[in-house]
Amino acid sequence: METTMMDYPLTLTHLIERAGTLFADVEIVSRLPDRSLHRSTYEDLRRRSRALAEGLQRAGLERGDRVATLMWNHYAHLETYFGAPLAGGVFHTLNPRLHPDDIAYIIEHADDRFLIVDDVFLPIFEKLKGAVDLDRVFVVPLTGQAVPEGLESYEALLESSHGDVELPDLDERDAAGMCYTSGTTGHPKGVVYSHRALVLHTLTSAMADTLGLRQADTLCPVVPMFHVNAWGLPFTATMVGMKQVHPGPHLDAESLLELYEGERVTVTAGVPTIWFDVLRALEAEPDRWDLPDMRMIVGGSAVPESLIRGFDRHGQQVVQAWGMTETTPLGSVSHLKPKLMDRSLDEQYAYRAKQGIPAPFVETRIVSDEGVAPWDGETVGELQVRGPWVASRYHDLPDERAKWTADGWFRTGDVAAIDPEGYIRITDRLKDLIKSGGEWISSVDMENALIGHPDVEEAAVIAIPHSKWGERPLAVVVAKAEASPSKASLRGYLQEAFADWQIPDAFAFVDEIPRTSVGKFKKRALREQFRDWSWGDGS
Ligand code: AMP
Repeated sequence: METTMMDYPLTLTHLIERAGTLFADVEIVSRLPDRSLHRSTYEDLRRRSRALAEGLQRAGLERGDRVATLMWNHYAHLETYFGAPLAGGVFHTLNPRLHPDDIAYIIEHADDRFLIVDDVFLPIFEKLKGAVDLDRVFVVPLTGQAVPEGLESYEALLESSHGDVELPDLDERDAAGMCYTSGTTGHPKGVVYSHRALVLHTLTSAMADTLGLRQADTLCPVVPMFHVNAWGLPFTATMVGMKQVHPGPHLDAESLLELYEGERVTVTAGVPTIWFDVLRALEAEPDRWDLPDMRMIVGGSAVPESLIRGFDRHGQQVVQAWGMTETTPLGSVSHLKPKLMDRSLDEQYAYRAKQGIPAPFVETRIVSDEGVAPWDGETVGELQVRGPWVASRYHDLPDERAKWTADGWFRTGDVAAIDPEGYIRITDRLKDLIKSGGEWISSVDMENALIGHPDVEEAAVIAIPHSKWGERPLAVVVAKAEASPSKASLRGYLQEAFADWQIPDAFAFVDEIPRTSVGKFKKRALREQFRDWSWGDGS
């Protein structure tokens, strides 16, 4: 039987039109580099996003063309989230924390045609411009400095639009956004989000039992808009028409607390590293800020129970979520089922420290050596997922098929158990990556680089828990006979290929690195060996 329903496209167009019409006067507040607050509205967002779409079309954008962004969280970045897709293009967020060579690789691999860059990021652009082939570069004047020669003004691009360019009809399966994530080895890999995936993700994220965003709330996404679209929160906030508060470059605890207090933020989101700092500041001066009751959505790395307990002491609620670039990112959220409210407080905290139950339309399973594992809370194996906003491949990387099973599930590289209530508990990681402050470091790439040092025989890089950053890399090095490389020379050597924050803080020199029967480093044994490693700074 044929359905009698309309085939209405699930595109981002609806979100921005809805917000511009129904919530025209609701505020979008952005903190600028000089700490001043820029205030605009959804009316402005709609008008300027359309103007950007027109401007890009006039600049030659064709269907599917990539518009890269190198930007902090603020009004203009939000405009690119809608403006590029409205023109039939694809916004592609670049992570300014990566080494410029990596950013250049990503721009080239994605075949970006346009770049929109905050003026404060121009020094990064200077370092990579020789290695990329971009048609036009638009500079967002956040500080008021003059646009350098050869580049164009973002504001002038918007001002050149007068509503006389027709925007294309979009298909929900069109590409709308793009984001790269680190691989265990080799170059970062790109995920391309369709309008449909983003819209379904937006609808589900708004649910009370997932991220629970409502018109009456005020959102401050601390998670950068270059990290999986700030977890999709700007889209969800726009759909529901809630006030948005963007912190710009000021991500330190005091700046955030001041913003929360001043703008009456009720929902905020970011990686644990940020919240440890915020909690420390609150503990140090509990009466300094008059904060509203807030929900902090925390993810990107495991959320320690101590963090959840710590914020509870200040009447603030931590909600843990798990997800990935490949899952747009909403995968699971840890709210207590009502039946668990009868459990002891300790048990409740233990549940909240798990990664939670999957969001609707996200299916999860654990696959161990014995096959698909029972949900017994104990059998661990790889967490695999599938759903309408889970990637089914990487952009232009046909050799990466191994990340998907033959029966169509995405292999997350996370090791987990699922309990009889469906709560996921991540216990380990198969992927040889280190996550420091929410950003990835490839241990294998670092090992390969270290091996190139003339005094290094072999090297293994492992993650060591760290109280501020979650994990930091420790390089375990075997020096060549008669050689004794200094830490400074190893650091200097790595600086050529890695961003400063990625370089190990510590190097441990050993005679031998344990290996498996097939010659691979026994990383687990090494982690065990260095379990009690102290960073020497109280961490
Ligand atoms: P990314 O693609 O950079 O967002 O990183 C996704 C990865 O971050 C996941 O595969 C996990 O390894 C890790 N991750 C994200 N959220 C959590 C969480 N709540 N608990 C533990 N690990 C997490």
